[in-house]
Order: sequence, then C-alpha cells, then structure tokens
Amino acid sequence: MSSLNTEQKPEQINSKWFTDEIDVLFSKLSTSRLGLNENDAKKISIKHGKNIIHDGVKESIFKLLLEQFKNLLIVILIIAAGISALIDQPVEALAIIIIVLLAGVLGFVQEYQAEKAIDSLKKMAAHTATVIRNGIERVIPAEDLVQGDVVFIKAGDQIPADLRLIEVINLKTDEASLTGESTAVNKHAKSINTNKIPIGDQKNMVFMGTNVTYGKGVGVVVATGMNTEFGKIAMLLRDTENRKTPLQNNLNSLGKKIGIYAIIIAIIMSVLGFFQGYPILSMVIWGVAVAVAIIPEALPAVVTISIALGVRRMVKKKALIRKLPAVETLGATNIICTDKTGTLTQDEMTARLFYINNNVYEISGAGYSPNGTFSSKGSDVEPEKEINLKFVLELGALCCDTTLHKYDDGYKIVGDPTEGSIVVAAAKAGVDLSKHKQSDFNRIYEIPFSSETKRMTTVNLFNGEKKYVISKGALEVILKSCKLFLIKDEIIELNESLRKDILKVANDMGEKALRVLAIAFKPHFEDNYNNIENNLIFGGLIGMIDPPRPEVKLAIKKCESAGIKPIMITGDNEVTAVAIAKELGIMKYGKSISGNELEDLNEEEFDKVVEHTDVYARISPSHKLKIVNALMKKGNIVAMTGDGVNDAPALKKADIGVAMGIKGTDVSRDAADMILTDDNFASIVSAVEEGRSIFQNIRKYLVYLLGGNFGTVIGMMLALAFTLPIPLKAVQILFINFLMDGLIAIALGVEPTELGLMKNKPRNVKEGILNKDALKFIALVGVLIGLITMGVFSYALNIGLSDEKAETLFFATLIFSRLFNGLSCRSLVNPSMSMNPFNNIPLLSSILISVLFTYAVISFEIFREAFHTVKLTGVEWLLAIGCSIIVLISTEIYKYIKKIKTVTD
Ligand code: ATP
Repeated sequence: MSSLNTEQKPEQINSKWFTDEIDVLFSKLSTSRLGLNENDAKKISIKHGKNIIHDGVKESIFKLLLEQFKNLLIVILIIAAGISALIDQPVEALAIIIIVLLAGVLGFVQEYQAEKAIDSLKKMAAHTATVIRNGIERVIPAEDLVQGDVVFIKAGDQIPADLRLIEVINLKTDEASLTGESTAVNKHAKSINTNKIPIGDQKNMVFMGTNVTYGKGVGVVVATGMNTEFGKIAMLLRDTENRKTPLQNNLNSLGKKIGIYAIIIAIIMSVLGFFQGYPILSMVIWGVAVAVAIIPEALPAVVTISIALGVRRMVKKKALIRKLPAVETLGATNIICTDKTGTLTQDEMTARLFYINNNVYEISGAGYSPNGTFSSKGSDVEPEKEINLKFVLELGALCCDTTLHKYDDGYKIVGDPTEGSIVVAAAKAGVDLSKHKQSDFNRIYEIPFSSETKRMTTVNLFNGEKKYVISKGALEVILKSCKLFLIKDEIIELNESLRKDILKVANDMGEKALRVLAIAFKPHFEDNYNNIENNLIFGGLIGMIDPPRPEVKLAIKKCESAGIKPIMITGDNEVTAVAIAKELGIMKYGKSISGNELEDLNEEEFDKVVEHTDVYARISPSHKLKIVNALMKKGNIVAMTGDGVNDAPALKKADIGVAMGIKGTDVSRDAADMILTDDNFASIVSAVEEGRSIFQNIRKYLVYLLGGNFGTVIGMMLALAFTLPIPLKAVQILFINFLMDGLIAIALGVEPTELGLMKNKPRNVKEGILNKDALKFIALVGVLIGLITMGVFSYALNIGLSDEKAETLFFATLIFSRLFNGLSCRSLVNPSMSMNPFNNIPLLSSILISVLFTYAVISFEIFREAFHTVKLTGVEWLLAIGCSIIVLISTEIYKYIKKIKTVTD
C-alpha cells in the first residue's frame, strides 16, 4: 500500500462538506448544477491527480529480472561454471554462463509480458461515472472524476468518489464496506448543522466504494482518489484480481515436487558418474545441469502466459475475466443459467400490440423511429380519434425514465428499452411529451422500478393541472392493485370477467413471444404519498417484441454438443419466456416453472426438478440463489448471469458469476467473475470454449515437457547403467533445456483453440490436469525418447564410432525426438498433420530456431569446442532425424488407436 501522504492535496481536505448549504458548496468548489466544463475539469485533474486508489508499490523491472537468478541451482551453476572457467574449461564455462543468462532473460520477458497482459485486463474492468460536463450528461471513466463534478447515481451504482448530495429520490446506500453497518442508509440532500459527526451519520454524503441499493440522486464530487474516506482507510482496489488460480498453485507445488525428484536423480547420476572416473567439479556442474534440465522452471510463466493470452482472446470475444481462477472452472461448466432480456434477446423492444377499451390495436413501424400507425381489426385508425388511446400511452410514457432522441443516423433512446418502446408508441400516437414541464416531465414523486416489485410508480402533474398516480409493470402485479377499469368514457368496476379478459389478451400476447406490460393510474388529490399504489384504474396493456439475438440459436446448439445445458431464468412472464425458449431450442425437457411455484416447493421437491427445468419465469433475484444452490449441490458447475443490485449473492455463489457490461449494475459487476461486454449469451459460450482451450494448452505443455524430460533422464540413466560414457555434457543439457523448456514449451502453451473442442463433454473437475490419458502419453513419449536416443548411442559405439561422435549423435537425436514430440503434442487427440502449421507461428519459429542452432553448434568450428560436438556426415544426420521421427509416428498411431477406441466405446 503506498503512503497516503504522497497523494494528499491540501485543497481537497475539508471533511465538513455536510455542513454547507448547496449554494455555498457550489461556490466553494467553483461549480454549479450544470457541472464543470471540460477545460476546468482537466486543469483540476492535473492538479489533484486521477481518481484512483493505489493498490501497492509495483515491482520494478530490474527486480523482476533479478528474480530470475534468485534460484539456488542457478547460483550454484554460475559459481561452479566460474570456477571451472578458471581451472581448465574456459570456453565451455562461458557457454554455460551465456545460456543461463539467456534463459534468465527469456524468463524475464515471459513474466513481464504476462504481467502486462494482466495489467491491461485490470484497466478494462474499470468503473465509469455519469457526470455533467459542458452542461451535457456524459459517461466518463470514474478515474477522470474531479472535485466539483456533478454526478448522477442510481440503484446498482458503485459511488465513484465522495459526493455531497444535492438532490435525492428515495436514495439508500449500503455503506458496509466503509462503516461495517449492513443495513441500508437513507440519504437526503439537506445541510447538517453539526461540526463533528461520524461518517455513518453524514446522511447528505455518499462515499466512494459504497453502493446505491435503492432510488437515485445527484451529488457534487468533494473528494477523489486517496483523499476519499475509502482512500483514507486504504482499502485494496477491487477490480481485476490477479491472485494465483488453484491450477497455478497446484502446478507450482507440482513444480516443487519435480524439483525434489530432479535433485535426487541428479545426485544419484553425478555420484554414478564420479565412480566411473569423471572429475568431481565437472560432475557437480553436470549434476546441477541435469537438475536444471528436469525442473520445469518455465512452468509458472507458461501457465500465466497461457491464461493471460487466453483471457485476452476472451476479451476479443466480448468476455472480460475479473477473477483469474474462473478461467479454469469455465472450461468445466456444464450448466449456464441465463437471463432472457438482452442476453438471449436483443433488448430492442418495439411495441406491437396495445390493448385498451377491451380492444387490441396493432402498431406498425420498426426500431425506435416514431413513424408508425395504429390499426384495429385490419384497418388503420387515427390515434387521436380512438378514445383513451393517446391518454393511456401518454400516462405510460410519463411513468418512464427513458427519452427518445433524433440523431444524424436515426432515432435512439437513452434509457431502458422496455420503456423506450412505450415512449415510441406514445410518439406514434401523437403524444408530445415536451408540452409537460421538462424536469422528468413534471414528476412529483416516484417509487423506482425493481426486479422484486416488478413495477414502477410515479406521481405526475398532468398538463400542469391534475396530479396522477401512474403505475406500470408486470400484469399480475398491476392487476392486483386495480379496482376499476377504464372503458371508453366510463370507469367501471374491474370484475372477475374483465380480469379474465385481460389475462386472456396478455396470454395471447405472450404466446406470440411478446413482452407484456400493464399501465394503471388514478387521479391524486392528497399531499402525502402513502398507499399510492392501491385502488388504481386499469388503463391498458402493451405487447412488445424483443427478437432473439440471431447468434444465440447457434450458441445453444454448440452448448448441446458440448454437454452444456442452458437454463433460462427470467423476470418476464412464463408464456413469453417459454415462447422464446422454444424458438431458441432451450426447451430440452419441455418444463417451465414460475417464481410462485418455486416458492411453494420444499427443498426436497425442488431438488427433484431443478436439473430438468428449462425455464424459470417471474423470478426474483432471491430465487436465483436458491436455483444456483440446488444445482451446485448436485455437483454441477454452474455459470449464472445477472445484472441487478440484488443478483450479487447469486453471482458470488455460482462457480462462474457472469455480469452484464452494458446493462449491468456496478454491484453485479463487482460480484461477478466475468463481465460480458456485449451482454450476449453467445459470448459466454465462446468464453467457455476459450476456458477449455487454456486448460488443454497447459496440459499439452506439461505432457510435452514432462515426456521430453523423462525421456532425457531415461536415455542418460540407461547409459550410466550400462557403464557407457556419459552421453551429454552439462553445456549440451543446458542448451537443450533452453530450446525445449524455454522456446518450444511456451509456444505450445499459446496454441490456438483446437477444432472440435466443443464436441466433447465438459471436463470432470475432480480430475487433475495430469489425468490418466496425459500420464499415459508422458510415459509413452518418455520411454520412446529414452530407448531411441540410447539405441542410437550404443549403435554408434558398437560400430566403432568415437565417443565424441556417439555423444553428438545422442545430442542430435534427443533434440529431434523432442522436436517431433513437440509437433505431436499440438493435439493430444487429433492428428498433428491435420493442424495448420501456420496457426502457431511461435511454435513454427521455435522449431526452426532449434534446428538452426543445433546445426550451428554441430557444424560450425567456432561452437564445437564450447559444446563438445563433432561434425556429422549426411548419413549420420539422417540416422538422427530418421530415428527421431519414430516418436512422431508412434504417438500419432497411439492417438489414432485411442480415438477409434473412444468411438467404439
Ligand atoms: P430478465 O430477467 O430475463 O432480464 P426481465 O427484464 O423481464 O427479464 P426484470 O428486469 O426483472 O426482468 O423485469 C421483470 C418484469 O418487470 C418485466 O417482465 C416487466 O413486466 C416489468 N418491468 C420491466 N421493466 C420495467 C420498467 N422499467 N417499469 C416497470 N416495469 C418493468
């Protein structure tokens, strides 16, 4: 945590903003209700710094570089090589030191890249704030907020800086992160006349890092960054976490275990060598080189790079990972619980049907353009002449926070699409909202929309005269509040038969996959706003289309072949939800359940149906938690989407919590493991595919590396066991290690997604990364490489070639065998020949570099002394390459047999 004092600017310190009257506050901060202008904001930002909390001192690049050489074995190797240089092997020792240094620099570059990739992900997950700049409402990165900015906040937002409130509507915040108090705090905008009160009692202030749970408000920024209360108690930055994933931790401990075995093997081998008469110093260097070669020192970097690059690929596919451990679980996901509106559908609503006076009107037109006509029973009508039509739509539009605007490229809405469709329908009917006084079209009071209540209610001054309560929302909810029915010029009792008629119309709309919203109202004469939602007059129903996203159908098909079950969980009504689910192919079991039915089931009953229900409709956020708990209890790996404030517990609980980047609230995004930047279901499926790919690449890398190392050890052990000369010198071992562990292995870790990955069932999470199949592959490769290299070595000695020649042949055969193994490991199931070599350019270039380097150290005089090699003839090269290719052929045959066996099983 960096020191607080470094960022503290005296101008920002005034902890008594709560005492000021609003005009005093404005003048102190040189701002107004219309906010700052851009130039002033820039100047303040330069003066006071960015609105960020510093989360600790970054490690310097130099320190990261030094880290690479902190390994004890590397230190021993450098010292021993130094001594050997002084005694009798200057050229070889120098080569050893150069290779070790190069390997260190390579490790540094890899780690640095991995860190940078994670840093850039952090930036993408940053918050935004809605402010007024130059008199216009704008969304800006929260870090650009400055003292004096006027900021809008609403339910679900995280407060982006410390604000003094100047306007509030039923505003409540959750300040638990700051004060520990878990009940929501009611806020107001009046000044408080006390000199000293604790933060929890500063009811006209809201603080950075706390959340709006209800209502909305406007505030002026009084403190930013480290000067906020949040900054002062110096809590950690809560955006992308880069803690290690369980896989990283497991692999780190696997690496440590291998390290211990490597040291034991190296000691045994160098002792054996010593007894065969090799000098002690060269055996120490050799032993250390063997240990260094066996230890997968690049393992942490490869894993981080594979994950970071995979996560970057996910960003391109619109899925932003916030918590790295999610990446591993993603690939194992077998159930995706998804919202409907905006995730499966386009969330571009257009009102198609309008029901008033017991009559259904059709509305034409596309998108948000206010051009369209009304018709009834096949003939066009003039909206003005249809009694109540314009009036009820006008009421509906007044009960919306959404506005319609004309831009150069057409009409767009600012706000919620459901409301947008009402505003547009009203405009089509000739309603001119601008005739009402501007401030929210003269709204006097409001009970905001929430996913729990499924309604929104306002009190508006209509034409500057009469006050109306207007309520719109889910039909069942609105219908319960209605006692009367508007029909033509009359207001009659809403009897059972009328209720049935209304439900029938709504049901018909739902079956056409239309989303249905009811509008009710009543004149309001009192000055208090208690019980305003009772005794309403039923006005009308609006049926709006929200077409499915075209790419979702394909994504759902992909899920099916990948063994993933999509489940729709929606706040919308059951009939509409089922109609859309059918259209998309989600109704695998043909079962749907409503929130009310779900509440009536006890745990045991629910457990029986939970996995076989395709659609959950009229669901509240608390039901989501119940569903996710039941699914996870059965061992499923569950991804769950959510966007509202109250979705956070379910998102936290799910294996993969998925929040929406566009529609979602800050609170839901903070609780999630992954954010969809386009709110699209198809992006979850792409992310799952990437998750599988990342896991597979790490497995490929491990199989390749451990198989190769195992083979090298077997080859050398066999030579020692048969008291043949030691086949590889220390410098050769390190050279091979640099190429294989440093270059090829990393390239395998970034292999692009393999074809057919989504044709397999999800991975069993209980199975480790080195599952049975992987271990078999490692054993096969290890034994093959060991036997082939040893075979070539003893053949060369048998036919009377010199020790140096036989050793060079061993060296070349080992390198080529491991390169062929690298090619084979591009896929552990598919034939390598079926894979485009240009799909993995890093691998192709690493193989080319390895071949060229090997040719150079064997063929060029200047390297031969350092690398203890001798020149090979054409036939000898052919012998080395020809024998090595057996590794590729055998592993390909093995994969083929395994594939046939899987198909016949
Ligand atoms: P999903 O959960 O799939 O996103 P949804 O958008 O229908 O579906 P909610 O936003 O919780 O879920 O809405 C639930 C219900 O509340 C809707 O079906 C609708 O009847 C009603 N509703 C939605 N938006 C509004 C609004 N702005 N004002 C009043 N009622 C609304």
